[in-house]
Amino acid sequence: MAKIIDGKAIAEGVLNECKTQIEQLKTQGINPCLALIRVGEDPASGVYVNGKISDCKKVGMVSKLIHLPETVTQAELLAEIDKNNCDINVHGILVQLPISKGLDEKAVIDAISPQKDADGFHPMNAGYLSQGNFEKAVVSCTPAGVLKMLQSTGENLSGKNAVVVGRSNIVGKPMALLLIAQSCTVTICHSRTANLAQVVNNADIVVAAVGKSEIIKGDWIKNGAIVIDVGMNRNNEGKLTGDVEFAKAKERAGYISPVPGGVGPMTRAMLLSNTVLLAQKFCKTH
Ligand code: NDP
Repeated sequence: MAKIIDGKAIAEGVLNECKTQIEQLKTQGINPCLALIRVGEDPASGVYVNGKISDCKKVGMVSKLIHLPETVTQAELLAEIDKNNCDINVHGILVQLPISKGLDEKAVIDAISPQKDADGFHPMNAGYLSQGNFEKAVVSCTPAGVLKMLQSTGENLSGKNAVVVGRSNIVGKPMALLLIAQSCTVTICHSRTANLAQVVNNADIVVAAVGKSEIIKGDWIKNGAIVIDVGMNRNNEGKLTGDVEFAKAKERAGYISPVPGGVGPMTRAMLLSNTVLLAQKFCKTH
């Protein structure tokens, strides 16, 4: 039976570290602040943004909500981002995605200063990550959180076969790069991968980031593997499920993360951790 990787507990640890670092920054006259830009009235976006604001409160970080109407133009949105890029009291900026149709998401991500890129989505940060330049890279929150979860097992990651299922810019690709930096042998799978079951069965580490309920079957998992489930899906009964068939996979895996209570809390915690890092690194240069 697998040991459960408790993302909530690990996230608490990250948040406590943030709290201490924020207190230290405040003694130097730096008051870390995260600007959250929300467009329109999508209820899910509202829930996510409110959750992030309440996380900020928990650790003593200032949050600044900029709620723009559905009718905002691309130029107005970019101007708002630029205003925050120039605001010396703002250390991290995030635009809650997805944004309304008609707005260019890529241009929005590009417009955020890489030095305030709390989500780590800017191409410059993605580039630093691809070069293994961790001095400079702001790493995308979800993969950064997954790496901490893997490290929490205490297992030596070096030399392990890691399979990442999903190749998105925000999860799959940066995850694969982080695992390469840990000296894993990495395979990236996607919707065209042949024999997914066989590839997964060869993995010492599986990171599932697909977005399809329980697509990774329990009996694909190699005995003793570490399994991290990024997926957040609603199954036919409306229950929140991951991408991995948890009940069966936990009988074979060495370690497994649950959904909920796994990657979700880590993603939220890493956003604050990134913002603290940005305040520590760049505050004096504004
Ligand atoms: P994307 O939709 O951007 O990417 C999904 C990936 O899965 C794509 O690369 C796609 O392949 C691949 N895929 C789709 N179908 C299959 C299949 N049948 N077999 C193998 N691969 C397949 O999603 P994200 O990366 O943004 O997110 C993935 C999941 O993680 C979602 O459930 C999302 O909700 C969740 N998530 C959770 C977070 C958290 O904090 N817990 C944070 C971020 C995401 P292709 O490229 O070929 O289309």
